[in-house]
Amino acid sequence: MSLVQDYSVLCFTLCYIFFCGLLITPPVEVISAGLTVQNIFSNVLGSETINFVYYHIKRSSVTLVVHSFLLLFYYITLGWFQPQLQLYVPWKAALQYQLVLAIALTIFIGACSVVYYWSRNNWNNHPIATQLGYLGDSSSSWRSVAASINIEFRRIDKFTSGIPTGRRIIVTDSWVIKTTTYYVHVAHQRDIHLTLKASEEHNISYENMTRVQFVHMDVNSVNVHIKPFTIRLNALDYRDLKDKLQAPVVNARNIVIRQSLSEQFLQAFAEQISINPVFHLPDGMEVDTCIGCMQKQSDIKLHKHCDAIEAGECVQCYCRPMWCLECMGKWFVSRQDQQRPETWLASRSPCPTCRATFCMLDVCKIQL
Ligand SMILES: [Zn+2]
Ligand SMILES: [Zn+2]
Ligand SMILES: [Zn+2]
Repeated sequence: MSLVQDYSVLCFTLCYIFFCGLLITPPVEVISAGLTVQNIFSNVLGSETINFVYYHIKRSSVTLVVHSFLLLFYYITLGWFQPQLQLYVPWKAALQYQLVLAIALTIFIGACSVVYYWSRNNWNNHPIATQLGYLGDSSSSWRSVAASINIEFRRIDKFTSGIPTGRRIIVTDSWVIKTTTYYVHVAHQRDIHLTLKASEEHNISYENMTRVQFVHMDVNSVNVHIKPFTIRLNALDYRDLKDKLQAPVVNARNIVIRQSLSEQFLQAFAEQISINPVFHLPDGMEVDTCIGCMQKQSDIKLHKHCDAIEAGECVQCYCRPMWCLECMGKWFVSRQDQQRPETWLASRSPCPTCRATFCMLDVCKIQL
């Protein structure tokens, strides 16, 4: 074999490995172009929203078959690009290519047989189905557990984190679910212990070019048939996840979860307001529910205390109290230059109702 030929086979192989990488762990660009196994086979897979469990049973099976075909596809395309290797007449090809073909065929046929075995009796043998079988009562089948998961997945108040095509964490009222390439981990909320294990920080996230922290959490089930698994999620999603979980999260290693910029600001905002002068409600005036969240009582009055006198600076607001501290803080943040958070604390905002300008010194807590 000539050196040139060796070189072109090597180049082809490297390109192919790159292509496989894109297919197995697709970057955001590939996902947004729709070039993923899920998208290409969407007709076979059905709807995830309507039938979550069957969708993932089929998705993991199709993914396994597609991935197992990659080496064989390499052999076929290499034979197409390099006809002189005579790969389509294997008995004339070099020994190493015969070996590649044998391994490729074994992997592909093996995977197809496994998927065929899983699919018998309407997917009774699939590992996800087996796992669900351990989650129901002794009398119920895995299909009733699947039905319960499907129903809860359709609710809009579930927690989800991660990209739809990759590893995703889903927490519903009763279930904690993690999807992976070939499997879906499921645990019942009442059975689990959660432990914060580690955190990792990256200076730049590819999504929004800011610092990002990821936390790793172990999920252990008291059900001995359920394998423990690890959840990895953006620290900014951590609070939402905790709200959805019924069990407490053990943080034995005292891992510090970073807050988002606006959370940090809201904390500083609340601290400043707590040292500002309070506002005494005049007799006969009553406070209503906050018109921002419709939940808390209004507890904020804008009353000019700073010594700004120049035009364009703070002016007195005469609105009656209509906002709670949290909503006023969020409003204040939303009026700031999002690119320059260092200016927020010293900045001003118009009153949400009358547009009178105020600063943080003019926000007073109401003394009831
Ligand atoms: Zn409010
Ligand atoms: Zn006002
Ligand atoms: Zn002011």
